[in-house]
Amino acid sequence: MHKKLFIPGPIDVREDVLQKMATPQIGHRTKEASALQRSVSEKLMKVFQTKNQIILSTSSGSGLMEGAIRSCTRKRAAVFSVGAFGDRWFKMAKANGVPADKISSVPGKPTTPEMVDEALATGKYDVITVTQNETSAGIMNPCGEIGELLKKKYPDVLYLIDTVSSMGGTDIRVDEWGVDVCITSTQKCLGLPAGMSACSISERAVEAARQVENRGMYFDLVELYDFIQKKDHQYPSTPSLSHMFAMDYQLDKILAEGLEKRFARHIEMAEYVRAWARKNFALFVEDEKYLSNTLTTVTNTIGIDVGGLNKKLGERGFMISNGYGDLKDKTFRISHMGDYTLGEVKELIKNINEILGL
Ligand SMILES: *Cc1c(COP(=O)(O)O)cnc(C)c1O
Repeated sequence: MHKKLFIPGPIDVREDVLQKMATPQIGHRTKEASALQRSVSEKLMKVFQTKNQIILSTSSGSGLMEGAIRSCTRKRAAVFSVGAFGDRWFKMAKANGVPADKISSVPGKPTTPEMVDEALATGKYDVITVTQNETSAGIMNPCGEIGELLKKKYPDVLYLIDTVSSMGGTDIRVDEWGVDVCITSTQKCLGLPAGMSACSISERAVEAARQVENRGMYFDLVELYDFIQKKDHQYPSTPSLSHMFAMDYQLDKILAEGLEKRFARHIEMAEYVRAWARKNFALFVEDEKYLSNTLTTVTNTIGIDVGGLNKKLGERGFMISNGYGDLKDKTFRISHMGDYTLGEVKELIKNINEILGL
């Protein structure tokens, strides 16, 4: 039986979108391929709320995260971490020989503008990375406020953010916030199959990256950017055209729904799950302001057997997620992202209640 995925990615893809993956292949050096990739990029610009160039990558989001920190750091990167994916960005820096420091928050707490200010006041850094939506913890960081701080006090520092589990599900204003590189993947709020990712990149990030000597090759953001300009939205290597067909179609659906309505639907689903979690358990993130709109991390205050629950849910055609890493049994996570409706989320919760006798 198919299990409806309420894990924080991949999530279920609507049947009509899935079918677009079966579109017959086209040559990747044709005008048709250019038009398709241009169309996808232009639609993504709307979702990203940016005028910056979009780079598509036939890799999951981690590829672009690695490419971004390696391509953009000339001096040193300050990597702000509130969980596993912030930690991952730091590991990528280290693995690539990119000078970086990790600045971690207390578990369950956000990256604050004060923390960023304190780090940047040292003058050591020319790049910062922030996880806009930390999927291991269910934290949404105040990326708008951090952007304001950068504009006011540190206008030369490049601002890189990870929106892998939030773009298309919550309001992310790349241009207004002054984000230089914003990264996302297909398999989360965009409601597409896993295997592709996209980022926006500012002109000044491209110019800064040109000064970096060893940017690698496959994920060299300058190489990708220049190729797009020269070859009308084509890429140096063969992209997943199947994904492009599905993306082009799904982005039309997302824009037809309307971003505001889509974001409101995510909040509606989030509020339902939060209310249920508060009543029966507790929320891992205590400060309302930083709760993720796309997934909820529930603290397992009554010591339920999360693995057992998931097994029983599986028999009913659902799947949720245990806590991430150290939080495996202490928390569990329910995603409410992509194309899911409040009705579907209610159905999941009803099944959990029946299994647990809540
Ligand atoms: C899923 C996720 C990633 C990793 O993305 P992949 O597409 O699996 O490489 C990175 N950051 C966050 C916040 C995520 O949720």
